[in-house]
Amino acid sequence: MAEPEKPAQVSGKPVTVLGVRITHPDRVVFPDAGCTKGDVAAYYAKAADRMLELAGHRPVSLLRCPDGINGECFFQKHAGKGFPSGIARVEIEEKSGKTEPYMVIDDRQGFTAAAQMGTIEFHIWGSRTDMLETPDRLVFDIDPDEGLPFSDVKAAAGDVRKLLGDLGLQSMPMVTGGKGVHVIVPLRRTADWETVAAFSRTIAGGLALRHPDCYVATMSKARRKGKVFIDWLRNERGATAVAPYSIRARKGAPVAIPVTWEELPRLGSANSFGIAKALKRLDTTCPLQAMNADQSISQDMVDDLEKRFDGSSGP
Ligand code: ATP
Ligand code: MN
Repeated sequence: MAEPEKPAQVSGKPVTVLGVRITHPDRVVFPDAGCTKGDVAAYYAKAADRMLELAGHRPVSLLRCPDGINGECFFQKHAGKGFPSGIARVEIEEKSGKTEPYMVIDDRQGFTAAAQMGTIEFHIWGSRTDMLETPDRLVFDIDPDEGLPFSDVKAAAGDVRKLLGDLGLQSMPMVTGGKGVHVIVPLRRTADWETVAAFSRTIAGGLALRHPDCYVATMSKARRKGKVFIDWLRNERGATAVAPYSIRARKGAPVAIPVTWEELPRLGSANSFGIAKALKRLDTTCPLQAMNADQSISQDMVDDLEKRFDGSSGP
C-alpha cells in the first residue's frame, strides 16, 4: 500500500540564532502576518540586549504557543524540567508559604532559548531577583472597556502622568500591542511591595474618585461599563506585566513599545508597531531605558496622597 501523502515540508532545517538551535524555523506562528518561528527568534535575538536590561534579571513568565497563535497557548509561571541554560531558576516563596522555582533570564540567549520553546510573550515582575522585595518599577495598566476609543486611553494615561508628576515622579508610556497603555514609573529600590501597592492603589482610586464617569480602579467587570480601568494590581508582589519589546500573541504580531509622552498623542492605536517597525525602534534610543530612575516613593507620600483624596471630590 502506498504511504499516505506527507504534508508539505514547511518546517525547514534548524537554524542557529544567538547560539541557540531553533528547530522548525519555517513553522508559521502568525498566519495573518505570515510570521514564522524563525522570525520570532530572529526578532528576539536583535532585541536581546535591550530586553536584557529592561526585562532581564527578574522573575519572568512566558506565554508559549507551540502551535502558533491560533493553537493552544499557555502561560507558564514556573520553571520546568530540562530547561535550556539561558533560562535560569530562582526559588521564590509564594504567599501560601510554598517555595516554587521561577524563571529568570540573565543572558541574551535566554530570549532566543525561550523562542525555541514556542514563547511569544514575556511577562515580568516589578522587581529584580537580587532584591526581590523592593520593586524597581511600578506600572499602571490602562484598560479601556470594549468599544472605547484609543483617545480615552491616551487621556487616562495623561491623567496618571499628571498626578504622578504633581508628586515629583517621572513616568513613561508603553503601548502594549493590545488595546491599552502601560504607564511605567522606574524606582530606586527603597520601598517594599506593600508601600508600592498602597501608593498605586491610592493613585488609581483617587483618579476614579475625581472622575467617576471615566475611571474605575477595581476589577469588577460590572462597574467598568463604558469606563477605563486603571489597573494598579500589577504592582502587587507576584503580579506581572508584559515586558517592553515583547511580541504579543495577537493578530498581526504587534509588539509592546515604550514611546515618549510627545509621541503618544500621535499614535492611532496601541498595536501599531509590528515586528518590522519594532526592529527600526531598536536603532533609536529607548525612552524608557534613557530615563533617570533616581526617584522613589515613601509611606509619607502615600499618607499625603490619601489626605489629598480623603472624602473630597479631589484636590
Ligand atoms: P492590553 O493593552 O490589551 O490590555 P495587556 O498586556 O495590558 O494588554 P491585560 O489583559 O490587561 O493585557 O493583562 C495585564 C497583565 O496581566 C498582562 O500584561 C500579563 O502580565 C498578566 N497576565 C495576562 N494573562 C495572564 C495569565 N493567564 N496569568 C497571569 N497573568 C496574566
Ligand atoms: Mn492592559
